[in-house]
Amino acid sequence: MSTLPTELRARSVGPWPMNTYALVCPDTRQSVLIDPGADPDTLQEMLAETVPAAILITHTHPDHVGALDEMRTRLNIPVMAYPGPHFENMVLSADRWLNHGDRVKVGEHSLKVYHTPGHIGDIICFGIEGDNRIVVGDTIFEGGPGKTWSAEDFQTTLKTLRDIILVWPDDTVCYPGHGPAFRLGDRRADIEAFLTKDHREFFGDATWEM
Ligand SMILES: [Zn+2]
Repeated sequence: MSTLPTELRARSVGPWPMNTYALVCPDTRQSVLIDPGADPDTLQEMLAETVPAAILITHTHPDHVGALDEMRTRLNIPVMAYPGPHFENMVLSADRWLNHGDRVKVGEHSLKVYHTPGHIGDIICFGIEGDNRIVVGDTIFEGGPGKTWSAEDFQTTLKTLRDIILVWPDDTVCYPGHGPAFRLGDRRADIEAFLTKDHREFFGDATWEM
């Protein structure tokens, strides 16, 4: 087992900036690309001096998979994602389906998969094992949870916050699909307060303060 931390590279791509991440094992130089949203040349640049091993998808919203086909063709490596349901019944052909609790190897390191539905049914987070960093996609942002499109989905988000997100330790650093990374402990009190309120039939863009 390696003692060096994995290298996490981030780039903002696309018209309303979406964070693409690349995780690199420092020992083997193996890498995975997370969320090929847009700008294939930028994505390829991110993987410089690494050996790309897989493309991982946090969820199937178009801003997160816009350059998937192109990157799959360029890199010719396996695509891994949650089995579904996918955005507007899009046909996603993954080489490996990932479920809650699964692990993805990146050289000497590994990622743990968390299924965190609400924003969309197929959303997953990738936690670096033995490390405090988790790539959370649009599950949560610094200012609130990912947008929902029905009251039922919003209730699912509340359950995800309670059962999965708040279980992570305070020193967890969340790397979201949009905006800056943040330390979970700095937002814990806000999230707990948010969960104690009666949101009735709410859905849409939520903030921790509402
Ligand atoms: Zn999304």
